[in-house]
Amino acid sequence: MQTTVADHPLIAHKLTALRDAATDTPTFRRLSYEVTTLLGYEATRGIRVEPVQVVTPVATADGVRLGRPMPLLVPILRAGIGMLDGLAGLLPQADIGFVGLVRDEETLTASTYATRLPDDLTDRDTFILDPMLATGGSMETVIRMLLERNAATVTAICLLAAPEGLARLSAAFGDDSPVPVHVVTGSLDTRLNNKGYIVPGLGDAGDRLFGTI
Ligand code: URA
Repeated sequence: MQTTVADHPLIAHKLTALRDAATDTPTFRRLSYEVTTLLGYEATRGIRVEPVQVVTPVATADGVRLGRPMPLLVPILRAGIGMLDGLAGLLPQADIGFVGLVRDEETLTASTYATRLPDDLTDRDTFILDPMLATGGSMETVIRMLLERNAATVTAICLLAAPEGLARLSAAFGDDSPVPVHVVTGSLDTRLNNKGYIVPGLGDAGDRLFGTI
């Protein structure tokens, strides 16, 4: 498994505002969008493209276009929705699937309540969106769903990650993984607390994006 912790002052600046408990919901949503766009630039570095030629007003130019089939974006409901527009803005032709997972706050295990994914992901680059890589349980579940459907590559984009979550994914999808798994995050935080929250983190990303319901 490959891990990229984006090292960029703009990302660090925006993450600092996201962490701030005083940041209101509209600002939190806008910043999530912006950080996802910046992380998306790193996450799509290896995306498949194919050669094309275009005719400029002056001459013929060699270029590229996104490879077919188009990539698939998969926000994990509900907090991943807050990152969707950021990546869909970069990849407007991508298809979008959904997986809904809810975490039991006692056991910290996630169970699936909704799945809308293509049956066959052969030759497709896939991108999972979840702001918080905490225990890694939800992310491992969704990565397995994409691998079972034969995805060509899997890239997980997270605003923040905990060492525990990265360790779990790297144990599950280590160097012998037949499909490349890449995690791109804006920060590797210190640890999880006993409630499974990332420390220092930013609190409950779903609540901060969409309110406490
Ligand atoms: N989910 C969140 O929203 N926040 C955390 O810190 C961990 C999991």
